[in-house]
Amino acid sequence: MSELHKFLFEGLPVRGLLVRLTDDWREVLRRREKAQDAFPQPVRALLGEMAAAGVLMQSNIKFNGSLIIQIYGDGPVKLAVTEVQSDLAFRVTAKVVGEMPERAQLDTLLNVNGGGRCAITLDPKERFPGQQPYQGVVALHGDQREPLHQLSEVLEHYMLQSEQLDTKLILAANDEIAAGLLIQRLPVEGVGNLGRKNEDEIGINEAYNRIAHLTATLTSEELLTLDADTVLRRLYWEEKVVRYEPVQPRFACTCSRERVGNMLKSLGRDEIDGIVVEQGRVEIACDFCGTKYHFDPVDVGELFTPQSKQAPGSTSLN
Ligand SMILES: [Zn+2]
Repeated sequence: MSELHKFLFEGLPVRGLLVRLTDDWREVLRRREKAQDAFPQPVRALLGEMAAAGVLMQSNIKFNGSLIIQIYGDGPVKLAVTEVQSDLAFRVTAKVVGEMPERAQLDTLLNVNGGGRCAITLDPKERFPGQQPYQGVVALHGDQREPLHQLSEVLEHYMLQSEQLDTKLILAANDEIAAGLLIQRLPVEGVGNLGRKNEDEIGINEAYNRIAHLTATLTSEELLTLDADTVLRRLYWEEKVVRYEPVQPRFACTCSRERVGNMLKSLGRDEIDGIVVEQGRVEIACDFCGTKYHFDPVDVGELFTPQSKQAPGSTSLN
């Protein structure tokens, strides 16, 4: 069962989250395999890390809507996406166009010529008219333009930039599990005022730095193989950790026949009729979950018929 654990360090302005996506992650990979469209191993590892990171970030900010991480690449991977809803339902996909080395990392997958970008979008569930989703973009290289090999470094940079909060992130994924650990320094009220500022800030930074340092000692292997209790005990056995009841992230897709129909409509009747003439019907497979949607000539006719002209009781969609 997939799990998300939240915890605090008693008396310290530091909080943490640990996620383990297990059967839900295997289901994502199983569906790709079933559709005979499995991703190469380095892409599976990247998408697993993105899924874990997306769940951690969504849970961390509790955003009422979808949190979407999109990495646009200039290498063999053109796009990698993860989307996490406020109830921690997640889905992932990628667009792979070229061959890649067996042990490819972030830079060899997506940042071959230094043009890769990572965009984090917060799309509110209910937008008021004219409201745009919030989006922040970070490059896939560091401050000295050195290429980053790890997704975690890119996202740490994003969180420092967007939330001004120090974050330590450890991510790892294989074909069995996608996991992540996030530690963040909490903003503290009253700090930053004149007077005692420096003294307080030193204490706060020391606590965070100590915990971030402990966190950084966790290896990928440990994160992938140890259960949550063992990880937290091993890393923070000298700290007072306050645990919360774990919650359950899950794989779920938001695609539907109606949405696919609307997408076809937006392409225009000529385009769709052309496909029907050529192939007899339109078949669209969801990039995220592999579900196939078919539209035969009658479905297509109904799609482009204004609602009011349809026969009563006709069901063009669903
Ligand atoms: Zn789907």
